[in-house]
Amino acid sequence: MSHGGGHKWGMVIDLDRCTGCNACMVACSAENNVPITSEDQAGKGRLMHWIRVNRYWQSGWPEPESVHIPVTCMHCQKAPCEPVCPVYATYHNEENLNAMVYNRCVGTRYCANNCPYSVRVFNWFDHKWEGPFDEQLNPDLSVRTRGVMEKCTFCIQRIRRAREQASGEGRPLRDGEAVPACVQTCPPGALVFGDLNDPDSAVSRQIKDLRRFRLMEHLGTEPSVTYLKRVKGGGA
Ligand code: SF4
Repeated sequence: MSHGGGHKWGMVIDLDRCTGCNACMVACSAENNVPITSEDQAGKGRLMHWIRVNRYWQSGWPEPESVHIPVTCMHCQKAPCEPVCPVYATYHNEENLNAMVYNRCVGTRYCANNCPYSVRVFNWFDHKWEGPFDEQLNPDLSVRTRGVMEKCTFCIQRIRRAREQASGEGRPLRDGEAVPACVQTCPPGALVFGDLNDPDSAVSRQIKDLRRFRLMEHLGTEPSVTYLKRVKGGGA
């Protein structure tokens, strides 16, 4: 639908659908040229994931019940990572994306330290893709170098591609045409992405669900990612 006001991208994650399969993580890494780190480096807190799936146990043996929470960049409307960057490498764009300019980043890591969601990852090394894995690198975006911070972009390259396609056909972008890799891949359809400015978009409709909450909302960061979860025993 064309609503004339520009796009404001956002996501809804339905925790009652998520099975914790991690397909979103794999799809994100493949789409965005995210390197794989060794067990040794992971042990030092140097994992490279733009989305992670946190697992919590709600009950123990004999009936263990887990809940999985996919956590990506929240693309906060009041992002604490943005004002602390001394070189303006991370900024808010006109479409509500918390964007990164990689070749401006000087690696202070202030942004990561100021992100309450721990979703920014730092390149401690120049990562190598041994053959034949180098052949699966996505040519639509760069491979980041040592000393550069990186993070989820809501697959900005896919948003651009969808927009160019729509523009080439002389029509507005339709709901569901710009789809991040994690959303496209999720088997149970737990992730929904779209334009929050469009009242008829799937994401705008889902955001009205009574199960909604946002992570660490009390911090005032105004995340653009909304979660849905049924509260057991609460009558909901
Ligand atoms: S792909 Fe979907 S179901 Fe699997 S962990 Fe990610 S959000 Fe959950």
